[in-house]
Amino acid sequence: MDYVLNYADYYFFTPYVYPSTWPEDDIFRQTISLLIVTNLGAFVLYFLCATLSYYFVYDHSLMKHPLFLENQVYREIKFTVQSMPWISIPTVALFLLEVKGYSKLYDNIEFPHGWFHLIVSIISFLFFTDMLIYWIHRGLHHKLIYKHVHKPHHIWKIPTPFASHAFHPLDGFLQSLPYHIYPFIFPLHKLVYLGLYIAVNVWTISIHDGDFRVPQILRPFINGSAHHTDHHLFFDYNYGQYFTLWDRIGGSFKNPSAFEGKGPLSYVKSVTEEKCSNPSNDYKNEKFHNGVLTKIE
Ligand SMILES: [Zn+2]
Ligand SMILES: [Zn+2]
Repeated sequence: MDYVLNYADYYFFTPYVYPSTWPEDDIFRQTISLLIVTNLGAFVLYFLCATLSYYFVYDHSLMKHPLFLENQVYREIKFTVQSMPWISIPTVALFLLEVKGYSKLYDNIEFPHGWFHLIVSIISFLFFTDMLIYWIHRGLHHKLIYKHVHKPHHIWKIPTPFASHAFHPLDGFLQSLPYHIYPFIFPLHKLVYLGLYIAVNVWTISIHDGDFRVPQILRPFINGSAHHTDHHLFFDYNYGQYFTLWDRIGGSFKNPSAFEGKGPLSYVKSVTEEKCSNPSNDYKNEKFHNGVLTKIE
């Protein structure tokens, strides 16, 4: 984050915003700058990627599913916009610790060991954060915590890309915590850390995009949109983020209904075809899809 902060100071804050007498390394000034930069970055990333995904990836026929809520997209966006500034407060506290030099982030790469370490650090980052997110997410489903913190994210049974960041602030922060913890425990290159920030946000959007396709060879390993949509529908399965590994270890893996032709998209298609051949059928209150009962809390 010090890269971003230095850049913002050099081109914007120092010449145009703050009085020249205010030192760049003053902690109060850094806090304000980080709050602005973090919120701006998060909103730009969310609106840009979720909008692109919504128009170019998301299958809009999912909106005909009976569990799709009225004005859902508007409600997902509204929830996100209200939560993100709150999530940014503890996040900025951690960014501040990084900027002050308490993390193990570094910025020089020596050939060839540096490059080797860089690749290993990306892989270990993915497995480390996937493991912690799994257990944090599973903990958020504990009956004493669920309704206070995680339930808002499960309002959306058939999520759109805009649901990807629609969390209670505590929920959003806790699930992002593994990302922030990693560079305090393991060395990580500063640019990789920034790149991973973009990558994890894009991935979070992608598992809510209703595109259930996963290359056949990766299906046993990757936790994609098909897995996560089933998590929104059935609650107790597929808590993972990138991989199915911890769901398999923790006994919560469920082969996605979309892979078995019983997913929400297949349901919408079968209802549409049924309606075409028999227009008198009304499926509005139907709670079954292809014989599978949707678990309603
Ligand atoms: Zn959940
Ligand atoms: Zn979700």
